[in-house]
Amino acid sequence: MTNLPPPGDAQASKQRLIACAQQGLLKHAIDSAKGGQGNTFADLVSAHEALGKSCLDSGLILSINAHLWGAIFPILNYGTEQQQQSYLAKLLSAELIAGHAITEPQAGSDLNALETSVENTTDGLLINGHKRFITNTPIADFLVIYARMDSKLSAFIIHADDPGVQFLDNPEVNGCKTATMGDIVLKNCLIPHDRQLGKTGGGNMMIQQALELERAFIFAGICGVMDWQLKEVIKFSRQRRVNGSHLGKNQAISHKIADMKLRLDTIRIWVNECARLKDNNKRITLASAQTKLFAAEAFLQSSLDAVHILGSAGLLNDNPMAMLVNDALASRLFSGSSEIQKNIIAALLGTGEGYK
Ligand SMILES: Cc1cc2nc3c(=O)[nH]c(=O)nc-3n(C[C@H](O)[C@H](O)[C@H](O)COP(=O)(O)OP(=O)(O)OC[C@H]3O[C@@H](n4cnc5c(N)ncnc54)[C@H](O)[C@@H]3O)c2cc1C
Repeated sequence: MTNLPPPGDAQASKQRLIACAQQGLLKHAIDSAKGGQGNTFADLVSAHEALGKSCLDSGLILSINAHLWGAIFPILNYGTEQQQQSYLAKLLSAELIAGHAITEPQAGSDLNALETSVENTTDGLLINGHKRFITNTPIADFLVIYARMDSKLSAFIIHADDPGVQFLDNPEVNGCKTATMGDIVLKNCLIPHDRQLGKTGGGNMMIQQALELERAFIFAGICGVMDWQLKEVIKFSRQRRVNGSHLGKNQAISHKIADMKLRLDTIRIWVNECARLKDNNKRITLASAQTKLFAAEAFLQSSLDAVHILGSAGLLNDNPMAMLVNDALASRLFSGSSEIQKNIIAALLGTGEGYK
């Protein structure tokens, strides 16, 4: 963890993503005919946890997941032959870096409030709007941007060097800081017609599919980080002397550690359940919402417990354990907040505000 690159170093963030791609990390659960490894989501989960254990970097994990579920899978599932030819191989090798842009300054959880608009002209698609908190901006070569055409939510591939678009490197949030993040400003941005991804009006479904996958699998990598977190706390509890004995002898401490272990293993079970469902071509709407809700809340509680057990040393500015608290706070928001996961679960049970 002490080897984490300094936050804000976009080039370092890009190099780490490329290094992961060179190990084949972006090719799991993708057909070999499409350039993938032809293996399973279960393989993806174990590779991502191994990455988490070795990099201990929630920001890198966020960046990889934005690239995978925000761009690679939508292009696999909805891209034309020509779009797949143009982008897939380069995305799998991280020669191109991407992500997806849904959120706007005035609209996060509420997709109905998205305002970015697209006008279909004879010269091309004219896009105006503003996106915020977009992972992998500004290092992204392109983004899948969701906008309204004829008032219907749809997806478009926008390159960083298209006329009228700016990929900015701010604002950044205080969590997962080793991932780059920024705004997208679109002012009369003109793109060719063949950059529409999927059908007009298909945006809502595409967003839900991308977010379901992200919710299901982003914690595979974070489990690796939490595994380190737990081991560090156990080590500290055995070494730290209090009242003539080791700190962990106090039941108040050892019970916190037992809870951390239970949370970590429960996240593993949920993530693997999502992989099992995907590998059997089953829907993951409910399981991915349950996984994300449980995992984000568990990550936050375990991160608070870890810092607390380390005492004030855990709060030192450069202590990576303290950084994980902010990473966990961010994890309760990205890919849909905890409240939104509860709305989804309740709606699937036939109740709550999401039930129509
Ligand atoms: C690290 C990080 C990375 C991100 N990466 C991306 C990215 O790559 N692409 C992208 O498009 N976005 C990204 N986001 C944005 C993220 O998706 C939004 O922050 C999230 O959807 C919440 O939207 P909001 O921040 O506008 O909060 P709001 O939607 O305004 O919500 C504010 C609060 O109200 C609660 N709330 C909202 N609606 C309801 C409701 N109906 N019932 C109960 N409570 C509710 C929320 O849970 C939250 O606590 C990222 C965010 C973070 C922190």
